[in-house]
Amino acid sequence: MKTEELTLDPANWEDFRSLAHQMTDDILDYLSTLRSRPAWQPMPEGVRARLQTEPVPFVGQGEQAAYRAFVEDVLPYPNGNIHPRFFGWVQGNGTPLGMMADMLGAAINPHMAGFNQAPALVEAQVIRWFTQLMGFPESASGVLALGGSMANVLGLAIARNAHAGFDIRAEGLLQSKSRLMVYTSTETHRWIVKGMEFLGLGRNSLRRIPVQPDFQVDIKLLREAIRQDRRDGHLPICVVGNAGTVNTAATDNLQELAALCREEKLWFHVDGAFGALARLSDRLRPIVAGIEEADSMAFDFHKWMYQPFDVACLLVRDRKIHEASFSNPASYLASMSRGVIAGGLPFAELSMDLTRNFRALKVWMGMKAHGVDMFAKLIEQNVDQAQRLAQCVREHPELELLAPAPLNIVCFRFAPAGVEEDQLNSLNEEILLQLQESGIAVPSSTVIQGRFAIRCAIVNHRSRWEDFEILIAAVVRLGNELLIQAARTTA
Ligand SMILES: *Cc1c(COP(=O)(O)O)cnc(C)c1O
Repeated sequence: MKTEELTLDPANWEDFRSLAHQMTDDILDYLSTLRSRPAWQPMPEGVRARLQTEPVPFVGQGEQAAYRAFVEDVLPYPNGNIHPRFFGWVQGNGTPLGMMADMLGAAINPHMAGFNQAPALVEAQVIRWFTQLMGFPESASGVLALGGSMANVLGLAIARNAHAGFDIRAEGLLQSKSRLMVYTSTETHRWIVKGMEFLGLGRNSLRRIPVQPDFQVDIKLLREAIRQDRRDGHLPICVVGNAGTVNTAATDNLQELAALCREEKLWFHVDGAFGALARLSDRLRPIVAGIEEADSMAFDFHKWMYQPFDVACLLVRDRKIHEASFSNPASYLASMSRGVIAGGLPFAELSMDLTRNFRALKVWMGMKAHGVDMFAKLIEQNVDQAQRLAQCVREHPELELLAPAPLNIVCFRFAPAGVEEDQLNSLNEEILLQLQESGIAVPSSTVIQGRFAIRCAIVNHRSRWEDFEILIAAVVRLGNELLIQAARTTA
């Protein structure tokens, strides 16, 4: 008896083609009219309940039905970061071309452990372009990673392996005679704490060095901490500098950090998640001077290169040291002189991942389509918007700038004369939540020296200056309305 053989390819390619065309048309309509929609909207309870309680679908309902569910329950309720007035956390927008590149990459679905065919060469080319753009030597090495967190942790792992002083890959930390110490500023993103824990170094082996008023690490205190740790019998291994901190976009003095690391024989890693990309602009490059002296650096393409999530990059100055951290021969993965696996699996030798997607394609196509000069101009546009926003805050009698704004992050609050300091935190928190819930704009928040700040991180290629005018007007209006309400309830 002959049974029907199954496949997930469409039963009718023509029907699927029209559905695929409809998906493309619908989503391009959506992207081209973003500005007419709220920056964010809360989900109706019914939709939320559906997504939380739907039983396992044992029997399929077809592609049409699956797409309808996306259109009704998912499409209207994302977190908002593609909108022109989204300035929260540090989240890029993505691009229409990047979206299509992701589709094409998924269509050919290559296995990105290596395999020395076109897709691997595309990733190698992206890395080669960026070693040049970041001022690294041509012999440097690199790998694309999921996000800045993972790219940074990979850098930290390489630092640990290179400076432990024994074969830590073989023996593990138990063999260590002294505590391996890592140094960074109090402003460094929290990936570093997770990374210290994940790598077995322990978060108590991380020294968080205080910053100066400009939020750059205090290098004098850093030097003293390193020397004190040596006197106490610990082994300093690595300094992590910041190119653009997550709170205020401060950049450490990377040249001095590089010099200190050379002097103290420490690995120098730079977290440049978004700030490293300032190097693409002639005008902004001096801000991150010294980044090219790092032993390793990490940055995101999905923040200030505007690509769809997720794609980040780790660069390592010394290819041999990079490979020595992750190479791991196995017979079932061995290279051969010809055939599909000729050339081996070089990317598997450079990170924890084996199977990886073709995230390089969107970066490669984006660079070819728009050119690096266009990205540099967009980055400058974001910095100009931030500088103008900071200037408006300084000049506005009811607003207060809470931190220097050296790059693309502005932290401010509504603080008119006569309002007590102890009211300002809850007042500004309420302003922020009403801004978000009304869908007017989505900044996020932070706390600067105990003061609640409305925080705009501008990595948005869709924002225009008018969007910031709308934001400022809304903050002032909401602030004054809340003050009037408060006066009424106490009266
Ligand atoms: C966003 C960010 C990270 C983490 O990067 P992900 O891509 O979100 O994993 C690390 N450091 C800084 C400074 C960041 O802004």
